[in-house]
Amino acid sequence: MIKNSITGFARIGKQRELKFALEAFWSGKIGADELQNKAKELRLKNLEYQKSAGIDLVSVNDFSLYDGVLDTIVLLGAVPPRFADIDDKTKLYFAMARGDEKRVAMEMTKWFNTNYHYIVPELSKSTTFSLNAEKIIKEFKEAKEFGINPKINLIGPLTFLFLSKSTDGSDVYGHFDAVLKIYEQLLNKIASLGEKIFVQFDEPSIVTDLSSEQKEYLFRAYDRLSLVSPKLNLIVASYFDYVDKDTLTALSNTKIWAIALDFVHGRENLDNIKSIKDKQLIAGVVDGRNIWKSDINATVKLLDKIALNMPKERLIVSTSCSLLHVPYSLDSEDKLDGEVKNWLSFALEKLEEVSLISKIFHGDVLFEKDTAALNANIKANESRKNSSKIHNNELQKSLKSFSNTSREAPFEERIKVQKEVLNYPVLATTTIGSFPQTDELRALRSSFKKAKISHEEYETGIKKYIEECIKTQEETGLDILVHGEPERNDMVEYFGEQLNGYAFTKEGWVQSYGSRCVKPPLLFGDITRIKPMSVKWITYAQSLTQKVVKGMLTGPVTILNWSFVRDDLPKSDVAKQLALALNHEIEDLQNAGIKIIQVDEAAFKEGYPLRKSKKEAYEKWALESFKLAVSSAKANTQIHTHMCYSNFNDIIKTIEAMDADVISIETARAGNKILKIFKEVGYKQEIGPGIYDIHSPRIPSVDEMTAQIKALLEIFPKEKLWINPDCGLKTRKWEEVKPALKNLVKAVKIVRGN
Ligand code: GLN
Ligand code: ZN
Repeated sequence: MIKNSITGFARIGKQRELKFALEAFWSGKIGADELQNKAKELRLKNLEYQKSAGIDLVSVNDFSLYDGVLDTIVLLGAVPPRFADIDDKTKLYFAMARGDEKRVAMEMTKWFNTNYHYIVPELSKSTTFSLNAEKIIKEFKEAKEFGINPKINLIGPLTFLFLSKSTDGSDVYGHFDAVLKIYEQLLNKIASLGEKIFVQFDEPSIVTDLSSEQKEYLFRAYDRLSLVSPKLNLIVASYFDYVDKDTLTALSNTKIWAIALDFVHGRENLDNIKSIKDKQLIAGVVDGRNIWKSDINATVKLLDKIALNMPKERLIVSTSCSLLHVPYSLDSEDKLDGEVKNWLSFALEKLEEVSLISKIFHGDVLFEKDTAALNANIKANESRKNSSKIHNNELQKSLKSFSNTSREAPFEERIKVQKEVLNYPVLATTTIGSFPQTDELRALRSSFKKAKISHEEYETGIKKYIEECIKTQEETGLDILVHGEPERNDMVEYFGEQLNGYAFTKEGWVQSYGSRCVKPPLLFGDITRIKPMSVKWITYAQSLTQKVVKGMLTGPVTILNWSFVRDDLPKSDVAKQLALALNHEIEDLQNAGIKIIQVDEAAFKEGYPLRKSKKEAYEKWALESFKLAVSSAKANTQIHTHMCYSNFNDIIKTIEAMDADVISIETARAGNKILKIFKEVGYKQEIGPGIYDIHSPRIPSVDEMTAQIKALLEIFPKEKLWINPDCGLKTRKWEEVKPALKNLVKAVKIVRGN
């Protein structure tokens, strides 16, 4: 009997071995064979971890050298034409992922509401498909040899098409039958490998609001696929939110073996499980997206509740989603505060949780070590509930006193005063905040962290950088200056480090894309500001110039969305706490004479829930927390915000309601079409659509930028328009930034006619 399962496992390696192997391969230090060997080592380790934890359903093909959607593109033979002439398989694979001298890479975008990025399949009318099952067969046999009867993880046909983009305007679902045929061929091939093989189709697209056509495709797919072979046990796996009742009922009418539902991020699933007939239910009850220890007793209770609807034997205990989204292990976290560490559970620890929960729920014999683990879990959860590290009653009180989050005066009045005080010209020029992060700067910060240099030496270094930044901006002729952010390695970590309620890991890496990992900070407790966080550097920059220097903060929603956030408090409350800390910071900046303050909300949009029904609630608290943060700004203090993405169509009213005086956005890559929405809704506030793409080393010419400014003037009146690059310049080099900004200023002068 199958009692438990893991949706999928992380692949980057405990010490990020995959990252380093990939980088060595790309730089020619190791060959393709050695890369494959390293990959195999990692896969076997993953199998071993899961086997020794007592997991029944261990996956293969959850491993990828770069990305699982890219692997699916290869599996289906859907290689875009520009790569078709590359014979070498490894070269082809990485050319699609990263581009090469001749070809641009395929687009990459966020996997549902996570911070993981997948490669977007490119389909056109002329795309053809052919099966390429080599990787899957290899990894299956490898696991068999290792003594494991694995489940094979695949990205399902609906989700594949759902994530694909059309390069010629044709309907991607036009390929449905062709794609399904390949999946059928694949299942036939898998069926020839043995008896009773488990195949999991990941279909996270079914937790979004699917159209009736999309649902039709889903049912047709699993109707057909579940009839391919009696030797196969098919699983349809959903995660990240709930599956609606119709979809569940229809899936339940197919011959699949199991459905996986997420009970952590889609509690609503509880209401619909009655519709699952004669199937196994894989219950995702251990959070695969967050890093807190499960409350094992509460989880078993939840399972008991689910079991009211079906016999226990049909219930399989699992993670809510793949463990790709959490760090590997707590093993190397020797610097974490012991109390905090005791509340955490990363991928390896989660395996143990799934195993123990399954034992308790299914009534297996508990050994001494199991009882000890359960007791430790109870204690850890109690400590987390009561710890003074987490709960701050004073803060709760002062938050209650904030009921009015509006600015002192309406925008129309504020902007008049601001224009008088700040006296900036039409088409005012500025940048988004950061300037190039040089090797020298990184070395300075790292030596300081390792205590190799004194505090004084560090500060002198930072000041020197700020001086150069100000000088460069003055020479360039920009209107509103910035300090350049040299003291920040990361826009969230920098603030997190200065707030009570945050902790940081040493090795808590999570794959973001390919070889790139991020290390999200841990927001574990009530948030309070220890002391001013940015005032010293901003005021230093301001002291060096007659021009206005813009203060630079990260907004509450972005800080929250890029952290692992406590789950014992609603996100709306956590956001409010962050907002209050920023509110105090803005007050301090203002009192120190800073006249413009930018509050970046780069991750505002990615926090949107997948289900329409939940969007309103998110918008409400996200908006309120931004407003609370900036509500300490006087009418004559100008508030800017910056957002990194470009498609504003569905959220434009919310952005307007944030009521920042000026917003700068990323549009350079997407073109001006997307700006029309601002005109259509009659957007009130001032706006700086990025006029050049900072993601590329290319230096745009004066002509190009002049043309772009003129095009923008067709959409916006000149009094409302700011001119800036489309994001921070930290990833660029000075040699690129200096001429690009000079050209920008020249272009503005030409358009202004001076
Ligand atoms: N102020 C930040 C910077 O310039 C904004 C970064 C971002 O939007 N991602 O780096
Ligand atoms: Zn940006």
